Amino acid sequence: MLIGLSQINIELSSYCDRHTLCGFCGHQDRKTNPNLKFGHMDFALLEKIAAQVPSGIIASFHRDGDSLVHPRLRYALKAFSHCIRSVVTHGETLNQRADDVIENCATVTISVIPNDKDREIQIDSVWRFLLKKGDRAPQVQLKFVGHIDDADAYIALGVPIIGRTLHSKKGSFKYHRIDPVVPEERVCLNFRRPEHRKSRRNLEWARAYATVAGTFARAARSGEPVMWSV
Ligand code: SF4
Repeated sequence: MLIGLSQINIELSSYCDRHTLCGFCGHQDRKTNPNLKFGHMDFALLEKIAAQVPSGIIASFHRDGDSLVHPRLRYALKAFSHCIRSVVTHGETLNQRADDVIENCATVTISVIPNDKDREIQIDSVWRFLLKKGDRAPQVQLKFVGHIDDADAYIALGVPIIGRTLHSKKGSFKYHRIDPVVPEERVCLNFRRPEHRKSRRNLEWARAYATVAGTFARAARSGEPVMWSV
């Protein structure tokens, strides 16, 4: 049974160094967020937080901005080595930051957006990162944000694919929830809560999730890519 804190989200940096910023991103848009001050998370503060969070919880390094921008990324991730570390990124600098990321987190999720002008930059970076990483952690997955036409080059990367819908440019709301949601960190907290397992909705959810998890497990063994459509 879960008691207390089970997950923490840390925005390592509010900067995003994507070559072409996403059109739907309100965070990086001065008109939507006129008062936002950009910066990196203070490292001393990060260490204080790390010392206070319990072992075994999920530490997700994303909120807005891109985690890989943080100048001390490697040490930031290492500070949370007692947690299940999950990073979400646009992936364009993943190859560049490979030495900071490899074996320093459990999962890396790369967001893929429709009609991306940076498509070639992103695919090249992810491909080189996967070659460098080999069998070592993290587990890499792509997150299709909306419908992706001409997805073959992404599928050819041979990593699992999960799906999401776009949210409002003004913030993280107006999501069209689609069940089952596959979490970026690949850990479903609902299964650890007995009271949730009792409800009919969650039993159905659990069965659907088990099917997805089984698909991913089989794909991991066979090396075949998975297309998860929403
Ligand atoms: S990668 Fe994320 S932070 Fe960067 S522009 Fe796109 S949505 Fe915004």
